[in-house]
Amino acid sequence: MIRKVLIANRGEIALRVIRACRELGMKSVAIYSEADEDSLPVQLADEAICIGPPSSQDSYLKADRIMCAAEIANVDAIHPGYGFLSENADFAEQCERCNITFIGPKSSTIRQMGDKAVARETVNKFKVPMVPGSDGPVESESEGLKVAKEIGFPVIVKAVAGGGGRGMRVAHNAASFGREFETAKAEAEKAFGNGQLYIEKFIESPRHIEFQIMADHHGKIVHLGERDCSVQRRHQKIIEEAPSPFLTPEMRKAMGRAAIKAAQAADYQNAGTVEFLVDAKRNFYFIEMNTRIQVEHGVTEEVTGIDLVKEQLTIANGDKLSFDQRSIKFQRHSIECRICAEDPVNNFLPCPGDIDLYYAPGGHGVRVDSHVYSGYKISPYYDSMISKLMTFGRTRELALSRMERALSEYIVRGKHMRTNIPFCQAIIKDPVFRAGKATTRFVEDFLARTPKELFTPQD
Ligand code: ADP
Repeated sequence: MIRKVLIANRGEIALRVIRACRELGMKSVAIYSEADEDSLPVQLADEAICIGPPSSQDSYLKADRIMCAAEIANVDAIHPGYGFLSENADFAEQCERCNITFIGPKSSTIRQMGDKAVARETVNKFKVPMVPGSDGPVESESEGLKVAKEIGFPVIVKAVAGGGGRGMRVAHNAASFGREFETAKAEAEKAFGNGQLYIEKFIESPRHIEFQIMADHHGKIVHLGERDCSVQRRHQKIIEEAPSPFLTPEMRKAMGRAAIKAAQAADYQNAGTVEFLVDAKRNFYFIEMNTRIQVEHGVTEEVTGIDLVKEQLTIANGDKLSFDQRSIKFQRHSIECRICAEDPVNNFLPCPGDIDLYYAPGGHGVRVDSHVYSGYKISPYYDSMISKLMTFGRTRELALSRMERALSEYIVRGKHMRTNIPFCQAIIKDPVFRAGKATTRFVEDFLARTPKELFTPQD
């Protein structure tokens, strides 16, 4: 039985897990770095333990310190959130060895899906459609070039250990291949300590559509529909929505089935996400599986009415899934904007600093998941996300008009504080986005054709 959970994370997701624990009657333990001493998770958890100095390397990424905290607090389980150690198979294994339940899949599954080339191979065996590419990692630039010529340019060179859009370069022809290969390799070595690369056909202007999976320890795997995450900048998501305005019911069925097959291939347990690219002709291709709760899980919750984080905790406790495929109803439309402290007219430069005045929108159909308050200091040590602003309603149009309304109410003020709120406002109003026609190229095109004045933050 899980009675007490340590949350190996910070910020809004730590708060999200604390809330789920409280509703289930489980005790929560926050860990924190010295920079997060005054944070809401520290104040709201049942217990809090400082694990080190501000830098992530010395705190939220230090598995040994986290395991010590888990021992001191005598917890039964660890929820890793997203980012940090959430997809670190060694950490999950360490939990398994210490008889602490890791709230996520088995370490062997994380290892298998964490290497994207192995994940492709695993899922391919189950006949899930795949972007054409190399069989496993390529050993050298010349081997990579050979594969690229075989599948045809343009290609995308990707790090097997990749994540967060890093270690990924597009090569449009043989002449530029070497340069892109070397850049991707150097980036991957620096970011992941693993320079291994694989090659995929570069799909022009696809949509990024992912399926939420939930699997219990009793062999049941279901999907909770899709999220369209095509609004991205530098391969990083900005706005997500569910359902996708592009999917037909037939495609949803086929992709949902493929997502479940991918999860079966990985012997999956707990929450996961199967990511696909969908081309203009509506062909879909598996790209990767994320073995953790996603940032954007809330839109699925608002559409289905299912609390995914509570479900993660009860599944880890050994309980059966509280629903089956047929009982899931997709009754609403939901949209999320990731609100960040960054300057949209200065190359989206992060703007850490003090928030003097904070007022989050509310009212019918609005949800704000955030750890921020008036007087909060956005630390330069971590990502710049302030909140996830979600709206929902019976129709896409309703969710969109609520998003416009909510964004117009949002106040985040501070001396040098700038946010991407005006940028999100401009996108929500944009006719291409509004028509549900955004592909992963959308933001690049939008930035090229939209005058900066339309999304310049007011000081
Ligand atoms: P990460 O794990 O770093 O997020 P993904 O494999 O999930 O990397 O890809 C992130 C994004 O990069 C995708 O949503 C898509 O926009 C782009 N991308 C990845 N692979 C391809 C591809 N083969 N063709 C076109 N775009 C791609």
